[in-house]
Amino acid sequence: MTKYETLRSMMSYDTILKTKCPCGHEGRFSQRDAITLFGADATPFDVRRRLRCSKCHQVGKAEVWI
Ligand SMILES: [Zn+2]
Repeated sequence: MTKYETLRSMMSYDTILKTKCPCGHEGRFSQRDAITLFGADATPFDVRRRLRCSKCHQVGKAEVWI
């Protein structure tokens, strides 16, 4: 059984979730912002799938890492 990492398990109060879209736009989310937007049980895959670039408006294309 695969254990999925969630925002809750991966992030602490000073962790920054970083995103980078193919268009070059980069985003940064604090733990609080990331959990508010995506939910504490979201995985990085969920974040990637749901993230919409604020610059080019593509969905599901950005790289996501912590
Ligand atoms: Zn973009």
